[in-house]
Amino acid sequence: MGKSHAYRDLKLCTKDCLCLFVCPTGATNNETGQIDFSKCIGCGACMAACPSKAISMIPNILPKQQEKDDHVISILFKIANNKIKENSILQKMLENDNNNKLIKALIYSNQVIIEDLFREAGYMIPQSKKSHELLESLKDSEVKNIVDKLLEKIPLNEN
Ligand code: SF4
Ligand code: SF4
Repeated sequence: MGKSHAYRDLKLCTKDCLCLFVCPTGATNNETGQIDFSKCIGCGACMAACPSKAISMIPNILPKQQEKDDHVISILFKIANNKIKENSILQKMLENDNNNKLIKALIYSNQVIIEDLFREAGYMIPQSKKSHELLESLKDSEVKNIVDKLLEKIPLNEN
């Protein structure tokens, strides 16, 4: 197996099927619609052949998270919390004015910013220590099976 494997973005796939013809291992021909990771050798032929740019190569081992000091993380959290408060106000405004496109756009843009801030703070990066701590804390919950699988499949990659 190579250092990376192919991933198909199903939203972009237009089913031209060129990837099926060029793949030397049959990894692209999978009932789930996704590329079979266990068969993929990372040659990149499918990505080069895909006319819809639906295939990308992603590393088998996710890179280490960039280090951030505590001060920066606490500021990221403060900004994210303010954005969350802002969004709950906007949601209430939307309840009274359901077709207001400006409010909808602001909510969407806030959600993207909140996601980015949490990612920068170390959450939502699957291989980060914080994500692993979060998953560990859910081990006794009703989603235990999923948590166990995620912890098994996503190795911690942070000192
Ligand atoms: S070549 Fe691209 S568009 Fe065609 S089936 Fe494969 S991923 Fe989809
Ligand atoms: S990278 Fe190579 S082996 Fe992997 S799915 Fe694409 S063509 Fe097949």
